[in-house]
Amino acid sequence: MGRVYNFSAGPSCLPEEVLHECADEMMNFNGTGQSVMEMSHRSKAFEPIICDAEAMVRKLMNVPENYKVLFLQGGGSTQFAMVAENLAIHTGKAAYIQTGVWAKKAAAEARHLGVKVDIVASSEDKGYSYIPHVEKISGDYDYVYICLNNTIMGTHYEYIPDTGDIPLVADISSCILSEPLDVSRFGLLFAGAQKNLAPAGVTLVIIRDDLVTETPRDGTPTMLSYKTHVDGGSLYNTPPCYTIYVLGKVMHWIERNGGAEGMAKRNREKADLLYNYLDNSDFYHATAEKGSRSLMNVPFLTKYSTGATDEKSLAKEKEINDAFVKEAAASGLVNLKGHRLVGGMRASIYNAMSIDGVKALISFMEEFASKN
Ligand SMILES: *Cc1c(COP(=O)(O)O)cnc(C)c1O
Repeated sequence: MGRVYNFSAGPSCLPEEVLHECADEMMNFNGTGQSVMEMSHRSKAFEPIICDAEAMVRKLMNVPENYKVLFLQGGGSTQFAMVAENLAIHTGKAAYIQTGVWAKKAAAEARHLGVKVDIVASSEDKGYSYIPHVEKISGDYDYVYICLNNTIMGTHYEYIPDTGDIPLVADISSCILSEPLDVSRFGLLFAGAQKNLAPAGVTLVIIRDDLVTETPRDGTPTMLSYKTHVDGGSLYNTPPCYTIYVLGKVMHWIERNGGAEGMAKRNREKADLLYNYLDNSDFYHATAEKGSRSLMNVPFLTKYSTGATDEKSLAKEKEINDAFVKEAAASGLVNLKGHRLVGGMRASIYNAMSIDGVKALISFMEEFASKN
């Protein structure tokens, strides 16, 4: 089989141009006689790679000068702890908006570390199928935490909550650079790379200078202090060099394709195609409510997901979902199985997914619906 259309939620597809460039440079990067995989992170050869990656992130995201850009490890999940350890240091209280699995995990981690967590809004009542509207958040919180795009539930904030002087922290793992974002509205942003930036292995953190504290909570390990990595220029210890190199290439690909605005245009076109099809179908329906829908992750069910829990209905539902995923894969459309919490299918259509990929998916869906 040749290249497939990969709808995985993460790690996910990368731009083919980037993969070709990586292949071309694999054995000998830029006349150094080495692969980037083999380079010392403190070498003259690697320095321009990490500097360029940072410069490109700053340029494409319009990062203000009073913010640091860090390349860390441990994935988005380690940020759940780092945010709490480094920011919950005055009142020890934080507000979380609970919009799905990842926000819930982040709140649980903060609680585990002794932070007093207030869930100021939640959409758990309706299976996280929407984003609650919270106009304004006030109180003696050290920070307010949101997950801007909910990868599993397929929901996305269409507004940024007003938190006044309280730093707003956002997990943007699955929507970073999918559309323009005003960084200055946030105290801290983070994103695991494996959705929209690079292969797994690096976590991008953008943190406002005043939040880089010398005094995180008692007992914070050195590696979990942002200050450690700011002082070390993301080179306190060995960073994931190769992943940072690929991230830089993805940044250049985004720039060649119109930057964050170009991505937004293309992503809206893809998402509109898919949601329009779903909304007009008698066979399929999207699970996320209008007004809260993600441009990146689109969970959907078939008419056989009726909510009935008798054995026969459940068996039929499973049979249809399994057939969809299997037949789609045979047609070169892979990783469409839904998350177990939502069921059905999920198409993740990150930046690197082409419009042709979405069109191929819709054609397959039409054909599958007509047969079932
Ligand atoms: C994937 C994901 C995570 C978890 O990232 P890891 O790198 O696996 O720790 C966290 N938050 C969101 C929104 C995600 O999509």
